[in-house]
Amino acid sequence: MPEILIRNADLVLTMDDERQELEKADLLMRDGQIARIGQGLTTSGESHDATGCVVIPGLVNTHHHLYQTLTRAVPGGQDALLFGWLQTLYPIWARFGPEEMFVSAQIGLAELALSGCTLSSDHLYLYPNGARLDDTIHAAAELGLRFHPTRGAMSIGESDGGLPPDALVEPETTILEDMIRVVDTHHDPSEGAMCRVGLAPCSPFSVSRNLMRDAALLARDKGVMLHTHLAENDEDIAYSQAQFGCRPGQYAEELDWTGPDVWHAHCVKLDGSEIDLFARTRTGVAHCPCSNCRLGSGIAPIRTMRDRGVQVGLGVDGSASNDSSNLVAEARQAMLLQRVANGANAMSAREALEIATRGGADVLNRPDCGRLMPGKRADIAIWDIAGIENSGSWDPAALLLAGPTRVKHLFVEGRQIVRDGQITTIDLPKTIERQNRLARALMQ
Ligand SMILES: [Zn+2]
Repeated sequence: MPEILIRNADLVLTMDDERQELEKADLLMRDGQIARIGQGLTTSGESHDATGCVVIPGLVNTHHHLYQTLTRAVPGGQDALLFGWLQTLYPIWARFGPEEMFVSAQIGLAELALSGCTLSSDHLYLYPNGARLDDTIHAAAELGLRFHPTRGAMSIGESDGGLPPDALVEPETTILEDMIRVVDTHHDPSEGAMCRVGLAPCSPFSVSRNLMRDAALLARDKGVMLHTHLAENDEDIAYSQAQFGCRPGQYAEELDWTGPDVWHAHCVKLDGSEIDLFARTRTGVAHCPCSNCRLGSGIAPIRTMRDRGVQVGLGVDGSASNDSSNLVAEARQAMLLQRVANGANAMSAREALEIATRGGADVLNRPDCGRLMPGKRADIAIWDIAGIENSGSWDPAALLLAGPTRVKHLFVEGRQIVRDGQITTIDLPKTIERQNRLARALMQ
């Protein structure tokens, strides 16, 4: 791949080990990696003038349900708590198929890209009418985003005391066989990988203890990561106490669902001993502040988690509970929400940006991403700070205090995915039209 040079950026926020912020700096990409960062760099290849811009590592999204971009702002689900919200949406999701999965994933990923995201995970836990994880993997490959899809699952339907309708659950043998298939087909463990697959039973209230344990064994055997929802709200804690006689953290520990190869979404209700467990075992957390606000779940103790050494990344969560996939806006929300709970000095804009970049990359075990350093992947978000949002700003590094929330240029593995605020790899207006057509059909 030819070289690309970013010239003369007002500021480069490296998120390297010293958290260096370089003024009037250049950045050279070669073969999908960052080759050099400094001043006076030259190239015979393509070059972009970044005067008036701030350059940061691409943002990392650690939790999403991309298929839900087809069910944003659904009446009946707009004002409900988690369990009631799920019960409104399950019958609609039961009508999805492969096309819905592909198009909704492309829309969600394009929206993420426009908000500065270069690497996203996804949690797909229902497979109606022939839908497969492969549908979303193809969507990401076409768009050009780095992708960590997880093979989710639900196996306990209403008739067995679970929350989802029976039509949306799968037999556990089918689930395990498909987990093996998608890992063998799509998982790439190598450095710089564009696709890594994880295993992700939906939540303790929609799968059996056996499936949780089998998924953990299979993940260790295959060398892939584990992901699920945990301790999201008070209902979730009450379910755990009633069904398993323990708190979610204990349940996770018992089933071998802790460790550096595991990350849990939400964790709003973790108590002090569960936070210590996560820190000790290097278990990761996907913090989803907008979703937690939208569903009234509470404020996750992110300040305490970070202070005790828990690895934390950010997630926009599904678009039925956010309802946006704007990751830079999510970072701002994370910063604001910790301040509501703990005071104005609880989280700086720089710390929130660190969680959104390097933090997320570490949660997903991607030390090759999330920082701008020679030898790391060329995943780069460039923000125009010459516009109205930043006019009058005294500190362009404090991007989250002012904006903008739409990226100017975005590179993934050295390939330009967004140019001047427009997606380059797919016909976005056509995809939006297709998405709206599918949404109208679902409404009927
Ligand atoms: Zn979720």
